[in-house]
Amino acid sequence: MQINRVYEKLRIFTCGIRHESNTFSTLPTSEANFSIVRGADVLKDQEWVKVAEKEGIELIPSLHAYAWPGGVVERSIFEKYKNEILEDLKKAGNLDGIYLDMHGALHVEGYDDAQATFIKEIRDIVGDRVMISGSFDLHGNLSPDFVKSINILTGYRTAPHRDGAETKARAISMLIESLKKGLKPHIETVIIPILIPGEKGITEVEPLHSIYAQIPEIAKKHGLMDASIFVGYAWADLPRSAMRVFVVANDAKYAESAKAEAQSLAQQIWDKRADMKLDVPSGSIDDMIALANKSEKKTVFISDSGDNTTAGAPGDNPQVLAALLKNKTKNVLFAGIVDADFLAQCVALGVGKEIKSTIGGKVDKTFGFALPVKGKIEFLSPDSIMQTDRGAAVLNVEGVKLVVMKTRRSFVTKVDFEEVKLNPLDYKIVVVKLGYLYPELRDLAPEHLMALTSGFCNLEMTSLPFKNVDLKSYPLDISREWNAQ
Ligand SMILES: [Zn+2]
Repeated sequence: MQINRVYEKLRIFTCGIRHESNTFSTLPTSEANFSIVRGADVLKDQEWVKVAEKEGIELIPSLHAYAWPGGVVERSIFEKYKNEILEDLKKAGNLDGIYLDMHGALHVEGYDDAQATFIKEIRDIVGDRVMISGSFDLHGNLSPDFVKSINILTGYRTAPHRDGAETKARAISMLIESLKKGLKPHIETVIIPILIPGEKGITEVEPLHSIYAQIPEIAKKHGLMDASIFVGYAWADLPRSAMRVFVVANDAKYAESAKAEAQSLAQQIWDKRADMKLDVPSGSIDDMIALANKSEKKTVFISDSGDNTTAGAPGDNPQVLAALLKNKTKNVLFAGIVDADFLAQCVALGVGKEIKSTIGGKVDKTFGFALPVKGKIEFLSPDSIMQTDRGAAVLNVEGVKLVVMKTRRSFVTKVDFEEVKLNPLDYKIVVVKLGYLYPELRDLAPEHLMALTSGFCNLEMTSLPFKNVDLKSYPLDISREWNAQ
């Protein structure tokens, strides 16, 4: 009966709540942090939509919500988005499939596992007949409860991420193929007790490079559809935080083969766990500043990794700025620090004026502090004058070019620097509140160093106050014995 569906117009509902929630961060993620797309807007300029259209699918778009990584999501906003999606689903009529556009590391206040609740409520409405496929960031932590409600799942195959559009297209394409061919996909999972930051799980370097390279071959094997390795998201103190391998088979009759492939990938990862390291030199702030100054490279990027705004930290810790000023470091671009009050003072004073005030430590009161600074205001963005959230100022503070922002933003592309009229390559040292550099900066930066700073994104897993994860995970317990069988 299912095979006859080839001649019918299949109907696929689409929705998603994408967030990477840092449970250590004191910065809650609220409605103001979310971008929302609904209805026909969801379908604009998306590779996955083109795939569906080419296959003659009718897409029924509901809400797609996305927020930049931050602290735990406020309960009321999650419930508002979830309820809107569930209401749309009830009104959607007969469906064949659902495509979920997720990150996979969403955590909501008051919920043990909001993602599992979300998919279970979807299942309760559509029943088992409707096939659900999802795409995820490889930094997702998908619990067994979540996975039991989904039929197909796939994750990014690159970190830093270069394949978001491809991954979404693969998720919907597998869904369409399964519906058209009447397949009954089956997922095998192996959870690997490893907690590593994304900075140690880079797919462009070994050991993960060779292990990820096996994925396309596994996906082509008889009876199999896809394989994913999830590095996971370690700055979430939750029982589900771990590395994982998923292999999707066309049918439960290929479960054994899927399990064997998942175990093989998981075992290779476990065997190489000690080799998953930072791919750039790292050390204390002072050591990284000294190393950068000695470098023959014209420009050296330094990541203030503990206050990584792309992994949920607030971005207002002035610890690296304090060290730069103490060391009287010149020719530095500091991009940037969040301080709305300080920015308002700059706007009130105007370009060309001197400011003497304290900066930072207003959101991150755990590791941050207020640093006294004196500098000259050199630039105010039009947004700062209009008092929008994108507002920013550039100051010269004792030879450090300092970007101050109204709200959290990360310098991950060249455009982010252009917006404040700066070229990072004009400076000897560029400090960014990132961990690893995002693809555009990774390609641009002549050299990159990782300052192991304190903060909610501390790269040293053993320094974090974990309580709820598997405390015997590597590297919390390096004596742990485990095998994938
Ligand atoms: Zn990610």
